[in-house]
Amino acid sequence: MRPEEPKWIPSKESLDPSRPGPAERPRELRRIVGLFRPYRGRLAVVGLLVGASSLVGVASPFLLKEILDVAIPQGRTGLLSLLALGMILTAVVTSVFGVLQTFISTTVGQRVMHDLRTAVYAQLQRMPLAFFTRTRTGEVQSRIANDIGGMQATVTSTATSLVSNLTAVIASVVAMLALDWRLTLVSLLLLPVFVWISRRVGHERKKITFQRQKQMAAMAATVTESLSVSGILLGRTMGRSDSLTSAFSEESEKLVGLEVRSSMAGRWRMSTIGIVMAAMPAMIYWAAGLALQSGAPSLSVGTLVAFVTLQQGLFRPAVSLLSTGVQIQTSLALFARIFEYLDLPVDITEREDAVRLDRAKGEVRLEGVDFAYEAKNGPTLKGIDITVPAGGSLAVVGPTGSGKSTLSYLVPRLYDVTGGRVALDGVDVRDLDFDSLARSIGVVSQETYLFHASVADNLRFAKPDATDAEIAEAARAAQIHDHIASLPEGYDTLVGERGYRFSGGEKQRLAIARTILRDPPVLILDEATSALDTRTEHAVQQAIDNLSAGRTTITIAHRLSTVRDADQIVVLDAGRIAERGTHEELLKADGRYAALVRRDRDAALPAESAARPEPVQGTEPGSQLAPVNV
Ligand code: ADP
Repeated sequence: MRPEEPKWIPSKESLDPSRPGPAERPRELRRIVGLFRPYRGRLAVVGLLVGASSLVGVASPFLLKEILDVAIPQGRTGLLSLLALGMILTAVVTSVFGVLQTFISTTVGQRVMHDLRTAVYAQLQRMPLAFFTRTRTGEVQSRIANDIGGMQATVTSTATSLVSNLTAVIASVVAMLALDWRLTLVSLLLLPVFVWISRRVGHERKKITFQRQKQMAAMAATVTESLSVSGILLGRTMGRSDSLTSAFSEESEKLVGLEVRSSMAGRWRMSTIGIVMAAMPAMIYWAAGLALQSGAPSLSVGTLVAFVTLQQGLFRPAVSLLSTGVQIQTSLALFARIFEYLDLPVDITEREDAVRLDRAKGEVRLEGVDFAYEAKNGPTLKGIDITVPAGGSLAVVGPTGSGKSTLSYLVPRLYDVTGGRVALDGVDVRDLDFDSLARSIGVVSQETYLFHASVADNLRFAKPDATDAEIAEAARAAQIHDHIASLPEGYDTLVGERGYRFSGGEKQRLAIARTILRDPPVLILDEATSALDTRTEHAVQQAIDNLSAGRTTITIAHRLSTVRDADQIVVLDAGRIAERGTHEELLKADGRYAALVRRDRDAALPAESAARPEPVQGTEPGSQLAPVNV
């Protein structure tokens, strides 16, 4: 359950938080700021609200000083009521401003999150197939869920609390200075201690958060991999359920320590700051007492109380300011991970001046095509020259691993050739726009993927504006209409793990119906290797025949039954064309193809007669052959 790390995941080194990560570079910061740029108007309003409420907030201690020094000693009831009312009003105003500010900033934050989520999703949609074949599904989901979720804190609240706390701290310090500069100096003496402690704990916490994030991603990947239908099947049938559970338990166990360490790092900081902040009023009273004893006359009780109140008011914004710093550090790291995603190279791109084909005729030509999945592993296909005229059919046969599927990936540009070219109607597929390519080439692969949605929705995925009649017609041509119609909910039947389970053959026919709706001039069929029962196979074959009529068809043949009627058969061997010709020609040539046919017939017939006592009429002997690629 622990395959090697996918290549796109940054190396451990680059994720080491003790090194200056990419997020600390100004370019990354500018990029983060750029995310907020579309919302600068609203952010300006937030800034104004924050400034106004901080100013109103620090007015309160001055009112208190007046109450204590003037209104009460002089017995001025009117002034007293006015000042008290003023204190209440300031509280009301700051609260209302606070609510407004939270509303606007949360909206902006959520919008930015939404923009990022969408950007990441769009980027992933553009990634080449190769990315998905080497990435664990869970990792991708975890990045979207955990990293973007983790950033939520910064984006939605931290940014605005940063502004509001900073303003509150500055306003308080200014007010304190206005009251008594000497006391202010005393209370600020503790500040360096404060910063030092916070930075130490913050650093520790950042390190732990990184490890925790990675651990969570690993755990999510394990879960997704092993708790899928196929994962469970494999685990059960291999009797590995218990060891999977203990592997999961191990992963989960690691999280316990990390979570505790992460919480404790935060807790220690809070406690230390708490002590420091409690010590401050004590020191103020002590310093003020000493000053009064040495005969300094300027200190009134009102000033002292107002000062301590201000200083206590400094406590919360100062603490949050420091924890904001930590949160920002953590989130910058998360931003860096998201940016890495957005910066992944997309190697299959559409040219700017791409050619548009309204309706391709369907001639497919491979000219001197070379292809390698990875340069270091050598070529998978070498020097392939094939021309399939419009409306013609080509069957590709050959042993497993000879490169048949790979060849079929090159035509719809799931991968790009590494040498030579693939052309549709004479135009290099790399010069076509994506839309033309998708409209021109239909792929029916071995693995039929259906969404968890209704049958009709699944079919409509191919053609969103298809009418019910069109859908039924396509299903009829694909030999699946009668079956769908016989289901209690017909075309509204839900498909998938929590819906109706279609058999392999039925799914294939749904996929065929989907492709019929799309009506592409070129068709790539990767035949199922799994042996279907004769009747199903017959129905699927009928559906395929209906689908391929009038289209250029490239069939990756795993059984020989469908091959014999192809206009052209190509036998691949280790990525090269070993033989080509029609069925008759190749039999006559008595080479590899003829040998395959012979071996196939010998291997299949005795088993066939035992397994199927009633041969279905009209089925050719060839169709009962087992898969070629043993
Ligand atoms: P076939 O369809 O004839 O069985 P494939 O085209 O699937 O053959 O595979 C041809 C070769 O390419 C095999 O050696 C296979 O291991 C390799 N291969 C297939 N897919 C990948 C991939 N995504 N990355 C690297 N190598 C691959």
